Amino acid sequence: MNKIRLSKSSISQAEKEAVLKVLDKEYLGMGEEVKLFEEKIKKYLQTDMEVICVNTGTSALHLALLSLDLKKGDEVLVPSLTYIASYQAISATGAKPISCEINPNTLFLDVDDVRAKITKNTKVIMPVHYASSSKGMDEVYKLAQEFGLRVVEDAAQAFGSKRDGKLVGTKGDIICFSFDGIKNITSGEGGAVLSKDNNIIQRIKDARLLGVEKDTEKRYSAQRSWDFDVKHQGFRYHMSNIMAGIGIVQLERIEDFKIKRQAIAKIYVEAFKTLKYISILDFDYNEIIPHIFIIKAKDRDSLKEYLLLRNIETGIHYKPNHLLSLYKSNYALPISEKLYSEILTLPCHYDLLEEDQNFVINAIFDFYKSK
Ligand SMILES: *Cc1c(COP(=O)(O)O)cnc(C)c1O
Repeated sequence: MNKIRLSKSSISQAEKEAVLKVLDKEYLGMGEEVKLFEEKIKKYLQTDMEVICVNTGTSALHLALLSLDLKKGDEVLVPSLTYIASYQAISATGAKPISCEINPNTLFLDVDDVRAKITKNTKVIMPVHYASSSKGMDEVYKLAQEFGLRVVEDAAQAFGSKRDGKLVGTKGDIICFSFDGIKNITSGEGGAVLSKDNNIIQRIKDARLLGVEKDTEKRYSAQRSWDFDVKHQGFRYHMSNIMAGIGIVQLERIEDFKIKRQAIAKIYVEAFKTLKYISILDFDYNEIIPHIFIIKAKDRDSLKEYLLLRNIETGIHYKPNHLLSLYKSNYALPISEKLYSEILTLPCHYDLLEEDQNFVINAIFDFYKSK
């Protein structure tokens, strides 16, 4: 029997052909394909923000934070229950991630806890669109305005998702997406930063290519800079034409991805309505494109083992970061810690077969039958 995978990329013939097309042009680095992908993202989102593509979502977050001139001693407020990438991006700037609680039903940043943890060193709030949902963002922006803080949205999981009827990336301060292999769309690896702030845009555009000023414009017309200035630390964080080629095709497929992922989530929700051992979180599956599907499960660890014996892969998103050696806090976060013992991520990806999803659901019912 085949393993039922938790997540995977979905690659059609069109992505393969797009890569071949780029290879045939023999211009593999950052050039016109990247420019085109950025334009297409902007058009899809119908946003007046600038779109800057980079090589990973983590780089997107790192550059976004660096563009705000974060330094040692500065603090960034971030939910503990997030991917390690959010934390690494913060600590890479020298700033300190301050672990915050989340709402137990939406798993979104708890603004009251954020407010309580603001100090004179706080510079940025970094909410995470956990499982693609960002219900509660308005309160974050209100708080940020009250204290004069910047907001960097870790929207790595939320590409194509809406909030209050509007696509994520149409408003806000700085928004970061990921296009890694299993995210809502992929460019192999990849990410993007969006903002309307011209200073930040220019800083990030330069920083993705070793800080070489205005190099982006040159590369987009297949030229190089020979006489240039550098004022800030930069990196090799740019996106390549090969990646952009994949991303452009994936973006064309997003409507299909959305329909399928939303349908999977709705089937799970409907199925578990009658099962008292499972609770469902407060996500609106008409608005978001769920990157992951989360349940809260009684006897989570035994259920996870049971499902694995049936060849069903599941996940735990995530181990709270304040429990890791590098980011250990001297205070407890009881909601995040309790959730960590209950949450389970079920298979959810574009190629998941209906019969496989039913197999997963039935296995979970079987597990609880004896309880
Ligand atoms: C995937 C992800 C990232 C990092 O994106 P990469 O492209 O994998 O570097 C950051 N934050 C969250 C919440 C993510 O899910």
